[in-house]
Amino acid sequence: MGIIEKMRLDGKKGFVTGAARGIGKCTAMAFAEAGADVAVVDLDYEVAVKTAEEIAQATGRKVIAIKCDVTDEADVQAMVNEVVEKLGGLDFCHANAGICINAPADEMTYAQWMKVINVNLNSVFLTDTIAGKYMLAHGGGSIINTASMSGHIVNVPQPQCAYNASKAGVMQLTKSLAVEWAKKGVRVNSISPGYIGTELILAAPHLKSLIEQWNAMAPMGRLGKPEELQAVVVYLAGDAASFTTGSDFVVDGAFTCF
Ligand code: NAD
Repeated sequence: MGIIEKMRLDGKKGFVTGAARGIGKCTAMAFAEAGADVAVVDLDYEVAVKTAEEIAQATGRKVIAIKCDVTDEADVQAMVNEVVEKLGGLDFCHANAGICINAPADEMTYAQWMKVINVNLNSVFLTDTIAGKYMLAHGGGSIINTASMSGHIVNVPQPQCAYNASKAGVMQLTKSLAVEWAKKGVRVNSISPGYIGTELILAAPHLKSLIEQWNAMAPMGRLGKPEELQAVVVYLAGDAASFTTGSDFVVDGAFTCF
């Protein structure tokens, strides 16, 4: 089989969390374009349904929307069950849902800290282990987690200690699962995007003033586009990445290079 064929995901089934919009929407579209049937999983069911329809129309693949709070164990189990039942299996998943709360550490409340750690890190444990258990019992699979360049560096000038810690945690969780499951056919990798122009960034008024400062620091002088993360996740989901596990893929336009 040639490399381009190996990059395709024909016949594979997977889900993306936080896929109603932003990076997750873009990767769900990419998986479907590569031939997979996909579940668009999000807390925001209304938008998830529209996104699923848009992807199905653009690609001709089976695309379903599932409402799920990724911080709720029962919800995640029910979501994985629904994916398996409605799509007929589970070959890959992208644990991507995440939030950011900016607050100086000495002003951040414990509730704010816990919220970020819960949505960004605890949810990845739930998604990966629940999806992983199915994959371990059914011939293997590929798990992709969204970390961030914030797991590698401390972003400035905005204070975001909980976010940075959560994303560093995602990377080390990724590596731990990759090692545990390396001989069992389940690969686990993460992506670490730089600043990407999604709602998380563009819709937050307090961040708008920061974009100019970030761009001034960025070697490419601009934000990334969600589309610029599509190729790496399609590669990781499929058979072309059969020896790739426990890796973190930084896609940041060289932001973290200095
Ligand atoms: P976004 O806000 O555009 O989309 C996030 C989606 O996650 C939303 O649809 C939201 O409804 C969903 N979500 C939030 N909490 C949820 C929950 N508990 N259960 C289910 N769904 C939930 O954000 P984005 O920019 O597309 O970010 C996606 C991921 O990429 C996040 O993990 C984020 O930390 C990470 N990331 C983003 C950037 C960036 O610059 N945008 C950079 C690096 C990493």
